[in-house]
Amino acid sequence: MSKKYDVIIIGAGIVGGMVARFLSKYALDILLIEKEVDVGMETSSANSAAVHAGYDALPGTNKAITNVKAVEMWPKLSQELGIAYAQCGDYVVAVTNEEMLVLAELLDRGVKNGVPGLQIISGEEMRAREPLVRQDTVGALWAPTGGIGDPFAASVAAAENAVMNGVTLKLNTAFEDFLMEEDRIVGVRTNQGDFKSRWVINAAGLYADEVMHKAAVRPEFVIRPRRGEYLILDKADFQLTNNTILFPTPSSKGKGILVASTLHGNIIVGPNANFVDSKQNKAVTKEGLEEIWNGASKLVPSIKRKHIIAQFAGLRATGNGPAPDPEINYNQDFIIEIPETVKGFVNLGGIESPGFTAAPAIAEKVIKLLEDAGENLVEKPDWNPIRVPRPVFRHLDRDQQAALIAKDPAYGRIVCRCESVTEGEIRAEIHAPIPATTYDALKRRTWLGTGRCQGGFDLPRVVAILAEELGVSPEEISKKGTGSEWLYRRTKDVSQGHLNVEDLI
Ligand SMILES: Cc1cc2nc3c(=O)[nH]c(=O)nc-3n(C[C@H](O)[C@H](O)[C@H](O)COP(=O)(O)OP(=O)(O)OC[C@H]3O[C@@H](n4cnc5c(N)ncnc54)[C@H](O)[C@@H]3O)c2cc1C
Repeated sequence: MSKKYDVIIIGAGIVGGMVARFLSKYALDILLIEKEVDVGMETSSANSAAVHAGYDALPGTNKAITNVKAVEMWPKLSQELGIAYAQCGDYVVAVTNEEMLVLAELLDRGVKNGVPGLQIISGEEMRAREPLVRQDTVGALWAPTGGIGDPFAASVAAAENAVMNGVTLKLNTAFEDFLMEEDRIVGVRTNQGDFKSRWVINAAGLYADEVMHKAAVRPEFVIRPRRGEYLILDKADFQLTNNTILFPTPSSKGKGILVASTLHGNIIVGPNANFVDSKQNKAVTKEGLEEIWNGASKLVPSIKRKHIIAQFAGLRATGNGPAPDPEINYNQDFIIEIPETVKGFVNLGGIESPGFTAAPAIAEKVIKLLEDAGENLVEKPDWNPIRVPRPVFRHLDRDQQAALIAKDPAYGRIVCRCESVTEGEIRAEIHAPIPATTYDALKRRTWLGTGRCQGGFDLPRVVAILAEELGVSPEEISKKGTGSEWLYRRTKDVSQGHLNVEDLI
């Protein structure tokens, strides 16, 4: 058996990544394990990217407390991690007098939760602020602390900052069972062998129920994946919102279908909320896309189908309890606990929305739980909270671009035309502290392949660069890990005067 860690974290989504990052402040030997080929590949890369203000969750719940606390943390945190974040505010739009009553409830909840600056504005005021919102808008709840984040960048940056501060990250490493000594967890069994530790933290997202059941914790708690489908609209020469988020008035199904700007300049539309039977079922459906289009058109009637360039779905880790209010099925509370029945286990479960927003505050709560359990956390004098981002060519001015190209000519070669992503950026990500080894890993980090052509132009070139930098054959390069390789086999041999894979790229 290898060395003994102080803490093992299962799952490198935004929650596991933030827990690792905040715990890396202390003199602890930490192992972060992730079953996939990269960090942040599950729910943390398929959501609305809203940094919720905190008026939605029921007062007193973990959801409400961590949400509001995290909103205070995001401005400094995004600076430290070198990632984009906009505190642009958000609106909940009402179109009937009944919906205005719901806004009053949300305002009341928000005030109880400690959300600052909430205000109900008139329909006239709303139309003045957001001219494309539907004209019969009666009023809106304005939440100035709502915002837009970048969950892709945040998941990578949190885990990367943790790794910079000494956390060991093992990808392709799936938790299978706990190692137990009587009622104490002393490590984990994985597909890559056994790892010992004093604490294990469950941050397995959709699979958190299965992990906790292995420790005989909350056998009654079951996660039912609740799918949300989305459409992405091209960067157009008009904006449907003034760089903000428009929510409809929520219903018992959830926060409803939003129309929002993204930090990358697109418009995102969605999600719906439908239970599905499988934790792998991220398919988009004709009916679902129609449902979200109808929802979006109701909120912003001038939205145009011709601008749609992509679709995707994400799965909420919706639990079956404990429910503070059984009438509101999306308001199951987050489980953040050290269970009494087993020692050495921090259990996080049911982290559905607003889990992206709340992740840094969940991490702080985990630290508090460990301290309360008697763990003597000693701060490291050399902890570095700053992650310096790698250059993004399209964000630089002409002089900066020229200087970068002079230093490394690879920055002068555009690989993704829609998003102006250069070869230099791609090569830098392949050699980053958490190396990008697949097409999707590069996509999440550089934004290549996300434009109108959806990778049609860049894909062959990216496969060639990955193969070259990783020293493998192009046939081994995949979209998102084993089983998703792009190239099946060589069909022609250049020695016989025909083209082969390298000639094509
Ligand atoms: C449709 C939709 C919209 C949403 N909108 C918002 C929003 O606007 N704002 C907001 O704040 N939140 C939103 N959320 C919620 C937010 O996305 C999640 O709460 C958050 O991403 C959860 O992060 P996580 O780390 O818990 O889960 P995940 O990102 O799923 O990470 C869990 C990780 O654990 C790994 N794992 C699982 N099992 C194992 C195992 N056996 N061994 C090793 N690793 C394992 C997984 O591979 C995964 O990487 C939305 C969610 C959905 C689905």
